[in-house]
Amino acid sequence: MKPSCIDELILPAGVAPRRTRQAEVRWGDHTLTLGGDAPVRVQSMTNTDTVDVIGTAIQVKELAQAGSELVRITVNTPEAAEAVPHIRDQLDRMGIVVPLIGDFHYNGHRLLVEHPAMAMALSKYRINPGNVGKGDKRDRQFAAMIEAAMRHDKVVRIGVNWGSLDQELLASMMDANALRSEPWDAKSVMYQALVQSALGSADYARELGMNPDQIIISCKVSGVQDLVTVYRALAKRCDYALHLGLTEAGMGTKGTVASSAALGVLLQEGIGDTIRVSLTPQPGEARTQEVVIALEILQSLGLRNFNPSVTACPGCGRTTSETFQVLAQQIDNHLRTMMPKWKARYPGVENLKVAVMGCIVNGPGESKHADIGISLPGTGEAPAAPVFIDGQKAMTLRGEGIATEFHRIVEDYIARRFGMTTPP
Ligand code: SF4
Repeated sequence: MKPSCIDELILPAGVAPRRTRQAEVRWGDHTLTLGGDAPVRVQSMTNTDTVDVIGTAIQVKELAQAGSELVRITVNTPEAAEAVPHIRDQLDRMGIVVPLIGDFHYNGHRLLVEHPAMAMALSKYRINPGNVGKGDKRDRQFAAMIEAAMRHDKVVRIGVNWGSLDQELLASMMDANALRSEPWDAKSVMYQALVQSALGSADYARELGMNPDQIIISCKVSGVQDLVTVYRALAKRCDYALHLGLTEAGMGTKGTVASSAALGVLLQEGIGDTIRVSLTPQPGEARTQEVVIALEILQSLGLRNFNPSVTACPGCGRTTSETFQVLAQQIDNHLRTMMPKWKARYPGVENLKVAVMGCIVNGPGESKHADIGISLPGTGEAPAAPVFIDGQKAMTLRGEGIATEFHRIVEDYIARRFGMTTPP
């Protein structure tokens, strides 16, 4: 049959595959794969003083329990280096199964050599080529860090950041650009310098004998379009696993939207093996918010499911009460609160889709698309709320107890559909 113009417009949905090298991050008896066939991993970073062993271990625990699969900690002084094995021990005692990444700048070459227990306790080292030293010290100090990683069999992330880009490299590339018959604009040279700093450092690590599967690359910038441009270039030029993040994304809505926009574009193109949302916490905001956003980005793109999703309409003039907003929030909070317990008891529950809708216009239709949905009565509608289960109208709720009743129906559905026949 000849395809219609509609058929021709329908393009396949989904993320373009990009196959990268697969790295293995190890600690104790555990291994976490990054890149290759592994799902996109979520990473975060503490903002405690690493010297504070208990405070740091508690924050790592909170980040891990929020869903962070790797947690980075600053290792900036000999005291911080001394604290690292104790933080690892404390996490192990608390049963927190998450690898620690050490973040090194300026003195990592010394710390990794002088504190072998720290070098062992970490699972991955972040090395910033812009901050390893200047002049003839640069290569020597970078080599000392790579050799420590090889000695302890650790993965490294060669993490370039435009806030600390290797100025000698940038200056030499600017000079070379000035000699071109048609010089590039300064921004293009800077993009090139970011990529060159990362890939040139990776080449040097390989010359030193590092297995390329142990190398992860990042080139973080704080502009959305800049990040997209730089990572597209990186993805074209190498097959290393890439860590993705918009650096210094900012606070609140701005940081959330900018990170989502940047990471969304790249992840949709199959670029990015680990992600971090570099959100500045608002006063009083939990550090775990950056993890919540990272999980939502991956779940919104359909790359991974972490929590049951609640679809809710925005509401409009057809629904003047807050009933459905309150119900949607209650359901969402309840599902998130219960997830730590449900994950073990109800395998697959993270794939559940719930809809809470405000009126008859889209309510029944959207509810039918969900596993379980409720269409609340809009203004002027009969005070009845049909509930749809697996696409079929199952019952109609009425009266004051709609919220409680719907909670119970959702819980029963979860137990029936995801409950294991034998306890784990
Ligand atoms: S479902 Fe009804 S209440 Fe919700 S946005 Fe659509 S028309 Fe408005």
